[in-house]
Amino acid sequence: MTVDWTVPIDTGAPPKDGEVFDVIVVGGGPGGSAAASYSAMNGNKVLLIEKDVWPRDKICGDAVGGKSLRHVKELGVKEMIESTPHFRVTGMLFSSSNGQNVTIALPKEDVERKEAGYALPRKQFDYMMFKRATELVIENGGKVVQGTKVIDVLHKSEPNPHITGVMIEGEVVSSHSAPLVIGAGGWKCPVAKKVVEELNGEVLTDDDHYCGAYREYWTGVKDVGDDEGSIELHFVDDVIPGYWWIFPVQKGLVNVGIGMVLSEQQKQTGVKKSLRKLQQKLIHEHPLFKDRFADATMVKGSGRGWQLPFGSPRKGAKLQPRRTAMAGAMCIGDSASLVDPFSGEGVGNALLSAKLAVSLFDSDKHADGFPEEMANEYMNKLWEKLGPELSNSFKIQKIVKRKRLMNMFVKKAAKRPALQDALTDALASKEAQKKLHSPLWLFRNIIL
Ligand SMILES: Cc1cc2nc3c(=O)[nH]c(=O)nc-3n(C[C@H](O)[C@H](O)[C@H](O)COP(=O)(O)OP(=O)(O)OC[C@H]3O[C@@H](n4cnc5c(N)ncnc54)[C@H](O)[C@@H]3O)c2cc1C
Repeated sequence: MTVDWTVPIDTGAPPKDGEVFDVIVVGGGPGGSAAASYSAMNGNKVLLIEKDVWPRDKICGDAVGGKSLRHVKELGVKEMIESTPHFRVTGMLFSSSNGQNVTIALPKEDVERKEAGYALPRKQFDYMMFKRATELVIENGGKVVQGTKVIDVLHKSEPNPHITGVMIEGEVVSSHSAPLVIGAGGWKCPVAKKVVEELNGEVLTDDDHYCGAYREYWTGVKDVGDDEGSIELHFVDDVIPGYWWIFPVQKGLVNVGIGMVLSEQQKQTGVKKSLRKLQQKLIHEHPLFKDRFADATMVKGSGRGWQLPFGSPRKGAKLQPRRTAMAGAMCIGDSASLVDPFSGEGVGNALLSAKLAVSLFDSDKHADGFPEEMANEYMNKLWEKLGPELSNSFKIQKIVKRKRLMNMFVKKAAKRPALQDALTDALASKEAQKKLHSPLWLFRNIIL
């Protein structure tokens, strides 16, 4: 049965002032919806809070990779997605600043199993994640609210600083407590702000590890697949070390956007203030792209910017990528700064961190509050799982900045099937990605 993602979601009655829960989840994006779903599946009484009202847009490239699809399947959302229009990703086209390009196929087995990757508007994807979470939370005695904002994160200082609940504002203002509050409100999450800045005096945002990004939807773009094919990542001048993307998301509809590390953006005069203008220039003037957009039209009102908090390791910091938890609270997804610093993918790590956070909470053992030692365990486990790949991606982000190296690499890759196979492996396996920044491997593949 096709899911209609354009109709409102009925979230039922709001909680009464003072109502107590096992878990409160702040934010109903993919991370928050997954955390609420996994918690409800464990039998917890959950309060899921979202400030916007569904269906709502989310600025994104709209690619949902293999890591995400495994969780999406587990949560019962994959069939819902497949019942709606979407683009099946079978490969990734990379181009370098001299105009060379190479298409790397995604692993054949993953494509055949329909687990390689999809692209579909986040308005549609997030709707289905939130709808499923609403069903699971309500079935398990919890509450879901939308159009309701967390306006304060409540805490106590004694016997040690710990988060105790939230104050929310919808039609009325009410307060709620729980042994565990999960911060899933994206890069401006009020829980992350409380956990990192206000209670621990650490830095929440950092221009070397945050990326500015801008997205538009276009129709009528030439040379893109209808419902299956490659997504395109262009490492063109003025955008490196970020990239310009062209991702088909449905028949006739393409997500076009640009992303760049904030500190790099600031170094490049003129670009700082306007990724939008840079994108306009690429679309209308770049010799490789202007013909493809000659008869295309931008979807009115679709041009919007947002930030990506990267999971790259912070120099000299004790906790990596930075503090994400304390007694009474764990942050997940963008709220924990977990976006891949090379690809810009964040949905997969939002879902993975949601599952990890929920697995560490026991409503009986932690009835008096999620303890600090478990918060530390979460931070350690999170970095154990994601640290190696995030650190690799950070190194690759730095390599891509070297234009000549990138030009030579893409040129060689376009000619060598063996190198293309190695890159297919690297797209599938984090272990295989390690070699992408090994000097010896690069020397063999670029110079020899
Ligand atoms: C331009 C761009 C392109 C991207 N492209 C890709 C891509 O192609 N693939 C990919 O995997 N990732 C991509 N990302 C990253 C991806 O969008 C994020 O990593 C992902 O959305 C993180 O999910 P999340 O649930 O942690 O946070 P979000 O998706 O940001 O969800 C947070 C939710 O919390 C709600 N909220 C915030 N504050 C409050 C509050 N006070 N009270 C209640 N609710 C609140 C928000 O309304 C929102 O619904 C891109 C990001 C950008 C900006």
